[in-house]
Amino acid sequence: MGKKLKVAWVTFACCEDSSILFLELMNDHFFEWKDKLDFKVCRILQKFHKLEDIDVAFIEGAIATKEDDHKVKQIRKASKKVVAIGACACTGMPSAQRNVFDDATKQEIVEVINRFGHLPKVQPLKEVIKVDYEVPGCPMDEKIFLQVLQACLKEFGIE
Ligand code: SF4
Repeated sequence: MGKKLKVAWVTFACCEDSSILFLELMNDHFFEWKDKLDFKVCRILQKFHKLEDIDVAFIEGAIATKEDDHKVKQIRKASKKVVAIGACACTGMPSAQRNVFDDATKQEIVEVINRFGHLPKVQPLKEVIKVDYEVPGCPMDEKIFLQVLQACLKEFGIE
């Protein structure tokens, strides 16, 4: 069996539309990707996951909670490259809408923020960890995603 790119596909605070788009892309690319991609972590495809020795982690969504913060740092440690997927991961928005609430509205959600371990602000990935590539768009721009994936396959000597 040839060398494969070891990938993780992970989501944080988001609507997971880019994950759906990624699944849709498999309609066109499944037979090509099955020989090139080794999914180490991908909740939408499989239960099994092993967060170690990842070549590229694709991360959708923003960082909203203390648990997110801890987990995304673990993913960064286990991955050689990180790709931010979609506007929420790249810029925080629209998942970060509570950051711009007026003071009265912020006051109304204080209890929820404290109770569920939310961070004071929702953050884009690059404010928490080093990001190597970004795929903008809401949901992600498919063309840019395919270009980034191609660049990663080349970089890791898969093709
Ligand atoms: S960028 Fe858009 S599509 Fe992606 S998670 Fe955020 S809201 Fe959903």
